[in-house]
Amino acid sequence: MALPKRLLYISIVSAAICFAIEWHCNADSDWQLDDSSPVISDEEEIELGKHVDEYIRHLFYLENDPEFNEVVNNIVQRVAAVSERNTLHFTCAILQSLTINAFSAPGGHIYLTYGLLKFAQTEDEVAGIVGHEVAHASLRHVSKLYHEVSETISRHEKGIDSATNLLLLNDHLEEFEQDADTTGVSYAQKAGFNPKGLLDFLERHLNVIIHKGMFGMFSISGSNSNFAINSRINHLKEYISALEKE
Ligand SMILES: [Zn+2]
Repeated sequence: MALPKRLLYISIVSAAICFAIEWHCNADSDWQLDDSSPVISDEEEIELGKHVDEYIRHLFYLENDPEFNEVVNNIVQRVAAVSERNTLHFTCAILQSLTINAFSAPGGHIYLTYGLLKFAQTEDEVAGIVGHEVAHASLRHVSKLYHEVSETISRHEKGIDSATNLLLLNDHLEEFEQDADTTGVSYAQKAGFNPKGLLDFLERHLNVIIHKGMFGMFSISGSNSNFAINSRINHLKEYISALEKE
């Protein structure tokens, strides 16, 4: 049975928006991510992105200070310029929210909260976060997610129970996050920023979550967030130490 278009659309949109959420499950599986050609064309991705962007701009007030926006957008353009999808028109909106969060929508739309920018101590940290979001676009995660959602539905139809299904999906989404981290760090470095920016940011953020019981970046799934951020930190440390040896 084909998934109703509307449901698929909603699934993709919600998951794309939630790329910033940590994914913490580890299912034993030899099921690999499919790297075949994209199932969503550039045109479809851009069109989908327009709708998501309109929706987000309805949900949030935007920070309009021109100087603040210029500084952030300069970082975005420098990082996007060195990515494999530098033909995409990347934009960045600053959301008037004191939570610490970042996410992206298809087609090159990036959103950073005011709280995140206040928490960041250096441009290198912001560049690391922006790199992560640009990497979601250049790694074509929206298209892969579309494929993942279709696979999940087909497994459900084959009678695989929903808990196993969710574990598999989460496991692959965690891979997306780690890939976006390392690819994003490489972009930040190519753009002239310190590649440790994202790692510094995540470590300080984790520290705040642990000591103040705060929820912030990537923490919607609550109590498991420490585990997820820790796993990203460890993955990043390995990657950066390999970079330093090159
Ligand atoms: Zn992400």
